[in-house]
Amino acid sequence: MSPATHAVVGAAIAGATPRIWLAIPLAFASHFVCDAIYHFEAFYPLSRALGTTYNGAFAAAAVVMAVLLLPVLWLLNRGGRGLGALYVYSAGTCAVLVFDDWRVRAALTFLIAGLFLLAGREVRLARWIIGALAAQLPDLIREGIGPLNRFHIFMHYDGSRDLGQIFYSLVQGEPGLHTNVRFENPYYLTGYAGEVLIEVVIVVGLLYYLRRPPRLSK
Ligand SMILES: [Zn+2]
Repeated sequence: MSPATHAVVGAAIAGATPRIWLAIPLAFASHFVCDAIYHFEAFYPLSRALGTTYNGAFAAAAVVMAVLLLPVLWLLNRGGRGLGALYVYSAGTCAVLVFDDWRVRAALTFLIAGLFLLAGREVRLARWIIGALAAQLPDLIREGIGPLNRFHIFMHYDGSRDLGQIFYSLVQGEPGLHTNVRFENPYYLTGYAGEVLIEVVIVVGLLYYLRRPPRLSK
């Protein structure tokens, strides 16, 4: 899933788990569970349709998602400034994906997390950022750790059988179209729209959950 989705899932786990030392491994594990769920990854066919690079397609999709979710953020505004900060953190860690080198992406994500931890005034926000980073961590370091990379691939849903592909072959009864023309086909587009929707429902649902006021300790 996108770094933003992993971040929001990790933040929700940190928000729901009283002990932060327990929340960190749970958030880390959540990464693999989330990647097993269908989500939009068809950036290569999208890049062919847009006539851009793979990273360009990713950046375009991330910007569109961030803008589409802005009204949601406004609706969630009563959750306080911490929620807005989590949103900016999530968007910032998506922007990092335009860099090809995983070490650069990891370093920049750690830098962004560090800045939010230093600048944030709310304890609640600090917990969310720690949970978010723990949930994003597998994608940040896996390319440097062979067994982790293999486990990641094992857990991730099969990209060659994404929802666009499944929907197309179910309706048409044919194996599939060339990746370069998938974005011209309504069945693929419907499947991809479903994948985007899954991710949006997770992000919006968990932001709504996090919006509740923090419980006051007695
Ligand atoms: Zn992943």
